[in-house]
Amino acid sequence: MAISRTKVYDEIRTAIVDAEAGYGLGGKVFLNTDELRADQTLRAMKKKELQASDQSQPVAGMHFYDAKPLIEQSAVFAALKQMPKGAILHLHNSAAVSSGWVIRNLTYRQEAKLCNVENRYYFTVRPSSCPDNQTRLIRDMRKERKQDIAAFDEWLESLINMKLKPSRTEHATIDQLWMDFESCFDAIRGFLQYKPFFEAYHRQLLHEFHTDNVYHIELRTSLSKLFDADGKEYSPLEVAYILHRIVEDFRHQSPTFHGVKLILSKHKNISNAELENALKLYESLRRIKIDLIKNRPCSAAFPGFVVGFDLVGQEDLNRSLRSFASVLLKPPIPSGPPKYYFHAGEIVGYAPEANENLIDAVLLDTKRIGHGYALLKHPILWHAIRRKQIVLEVCPISNQVLGLVRDLRNHPASFYVSQSIPITITSDDPGFWDARGVTYDYYYTFMAIAPHAGLGFLKQLVWDSIRYSSLSDEERQNITKIMEKQWALFVREMARK
Ligand SMILES: [Zn+2]
Repeated sequence: MAISRTKVYDEIRTAIVDAEAGYGLGGKVFLNTDELRADQTLRAMKKKELQASDQSQPVAGMHFYDAKPLIEQSAVFAALKQMPKGAILHLHNSAAVSSGWVIRNLTYRQEAKLCNVENRYYFTVRPSSCPDNQTRLIRDMRKERKQDIAAFDEWLESLINMKLKPSRTEHATIDQLWMDFESCFDAIRGFLQYKPFFEAYHRQLLHEFHTDNVYHIELRTSLSKLFDADGKEYSPLEVAYILHRIVEDFRHQSPTFHGVKLILSKHKNISNAELENALKLYESLRRIKIDLIKNRPCSAAFPGFVVGFDLVGQEDLNRSLRSFASVLLKPPIPSGPPKYYFHAGEIVGYAPEANENLIDAVLLDTKRIGHGYALLKHPILWHAIRRKQIVLEVCPISNQVLGLVRDLRNHPASFYVSQSIPITITSDDPGFWDARGVTYDYYYTFMAIAPHAGLGFLKQLVWDSIRYSSLSDEERQNITKIMEKQWALFVREMARK
């Protein structure tokens, strides 16, 4: 009797384990012979690394600041870096490029200056943006520090890197972290308003993501005005054109890079009138086309480059989506509401309206949700989101750096994965923690959020990133061709190991 009971127990237990493995995201993905072999290789590498860390704190459970050098030695990380990652759907342009590159490149240019106002420092180039007596050329400051240039450069980097901020301690509050985070945007703004720096920075952005095997980017940007060395100003329409030209040049040099789409993003601290103006700007951006003779934008159709609209900023301190709903539902533009891609649910505390941003995002017909970290607390929305196929743009390291979760093994995306709620992995603001691309976020997703998953899960994430992008049917066909070829190369390489 005892043996038979044990046998039944074991059979039921095995059935549960197998059913769970097939239940979540990627559980039912078909794998061909090469993929099955690659899956075995990857699972063996993963098991070895998760077991190797049993004696001490596992890397997947460590904060990115401490884990980064260890992750870079990982064989799983090396494999994920090689993996074609399709599209990344949540990235803010002014926080996308690694802080180390900004310091080693932009601050070493002759025009680079530092402005000091009330003991806060801002990078700048333009003479008029900071009082003369409070602005200094960085090269002059560096000359005075010739004995300890490395320390000087690290201090400069602390203006745009969260790891080097006072709030990096375990005890910092979310408000302190956000204050430091917003200070990074304030510090870099002056550099990115200067056209030559803006262009160099965005070329580097494309380079960092493409070398990380990303082929398509949906970039959130405010399209603020630029100026050049002669003081000439460029309007948001012209800035969109400048970005478009940078992308096209990059595509010519890098045939496996598919392209970029823009999501116009404004801060949640704006008034209704400012929101109306932003939506009118969105409308005009949707209609711009390039006058090839004058080589500048003019009004008409420039379809498909600017694809949507978003509102950003700390949710519990700024206006809620509900407070903007009347304008967002009936914007003062003839084409009706844009496609919305709202940040929502990037929160852990209790702020009534901010907590309900997820409900408003769904009611306002958002196409995707930026973060959705708090979705766990909205059981009615789980079903709505799955039914409407609204993907969650999950940014693991960003959530950790901004204090939502210390140990990413506790990230709620584990629950979304287990429930097959669609997610896409993306990196939000990687430059502000000196990461490049999105592979670090994939590492945490694979090792901490979905520790039992294999290649099927990764395959689902990668192809879902295309599925939930805003690419047109024709563009989807093109990127699918690129992806299929690159995926096959990656799988063959993994299967050979
Ligand atoms: Zn974001």
